[in-house]
Amino acid sequence: MKQSLMFIPTLRDMPKDAEIASHKILLKGGYVKQHAAGVYTYLPLAYKVIKKIEKIVREELDAIGCSELLMPTLQSKDLWVESGRWDGYGKELMRMKDRHDRDFCLGPTHEEVVTAVVRDSVNSYKKLPVALYQIQTKFRDEFRPRFGLMRGREFIMKDLYTFSTSREDLNTWYLKVRQAYINIFTRLGLKFGIVSANSGQIGGKESEEFMVLCDIGEDTICFSDGSDFACNSELMDLKEGDPSPDGKGTIHLAKGIEVGHIFKLGTKYSEPMNLMFIDVDNTKKPVVMGCYGIGISRLIMAILEQHNTDLKVLWPETVAPFKVHVIPMDKVGSDGYNIANDIYEELKKKYEVLIDDRSESAGVKFNDADLIGIKYRIIVGRRAKEGIVEVKNMETLETKEMSIDEVKGMVF
Ligand code: ATP
Ligand code: MG
Repeated sequence: MKQSLMFIPTLRDMPKDAEIASHKILLKGGYVKQHAAGVYTYLPLAYKVIKKIEKIVREELDAIGCSELLMPTLQSKDLWVESGRWDGYGKELMRMKDRHDRDFCLGPTHEEVVTAVVRDSVNSYKKLPVALYQIQTKFRDEFRPRFGLMRGREFIMKDLYTFSTSREDLNTWYLKVRQAYINIFTRLGLKFGIVSANSGQIGGKESEEFMVLCDIGEDTICFSDGSDFACNSELMDLKEGDPSPDGKGTIHLAKGIEVGHIFKLGTKYSEPMNLMFIDVDNTKKPVVMGCYGIGISRLIMAILEQHNTDLKVLWPETVAPFKVHVIPMDKVGSDGYNIANDIYEELKKKYEVLIDDRSESAGVKFNDADLIGIKYRIIVGRRAKEGIVEVKNMETLETKEMSIDEVKGMVF
């Protein structure tokens, strides 16, 4: 990709309203553009990263037998009355009326819709289990949208729902999804922990959150140094130094960003919404459900928080917008540029390559490259005429001088 053609509207000055590193990077680096409080456009650079995150999520969920679908964002009030959440959800629910004065909401989550989808076609144990997920825009009129994509009013979520004949089968799915989440967050290059949580508006009795460890996180995690006990501080009133409730070790506190939440819903939706099936023993029972969310757009910020140094970005290779960044020092049309372009043309047969073909100073190019955060930089400078270019690994900060042919054949 030619950088001049990729719409990356970087800002010259540091945006004043951004308080945390990831938010500053997203705005300054031309990744997102704010539209209204908690509502953003994902510009091409951010959208490339999002698609890579989504691909990893899809691969891991498909691998455990989940199927992807896409449900409506616009949801009718009737279903929400059936579940009892039309009144229960409160002000976070974005409500609206159609031209016939019928009530709708913009989905903050999809338990109602998915329960209705399954109930009309699954009536026997023979058709269970079912595991359905989607990646979709969600709407929540958050009281305090803040930190950019961290707490948006419109955001991208992956939501998965499982439908089982028994509590045991739900437990099996829960553990499979939990492991898939571990795989996903590991592939995303995150340091994270899993904590017991409060199931909030979604309901059910048991839930766990996946927390990316980070000082600016909104959640407080209480964990023991003597066992794997860990919970969200919402759940228990624990202080630094308290004995761990499981009797093993001492409690410590840390901050975290919640990037995933998994719930054993049980029959919270199937009972009021009448999602029943006939079991092997010919009796009618409510379907046992689980639901599992990942904050896709929030993840971009969580990754950035753990992968920047003084606002210089280094994306994990699994989600980086490109593999290689070719940076010619000379202008388009010059011999130096042509050499860079040859390298670009060759490498792009195998890798995603970005070439900085803009007429900008070296300083501007390097500053922007630090915001784009690609691991390998090929700098085509003064020695290009002698057939020598520099390859810099931004992770090890090692720079190697290499011949043009060597670079063209390089394996990244
Ligand atoms: P929070 O406690 O942060 O409000 P939640 O418990 O309301 O989160 P869930 O309903 O479990 O969140 O949603 C699943 C995932 O979606 C969360 O783990 C989080 O990563 C993400 N998420 C929730 N609300 C937002 C939001 N307003 N903006 C961006 N991502 C969000
Ligand atoms: Mg919430």
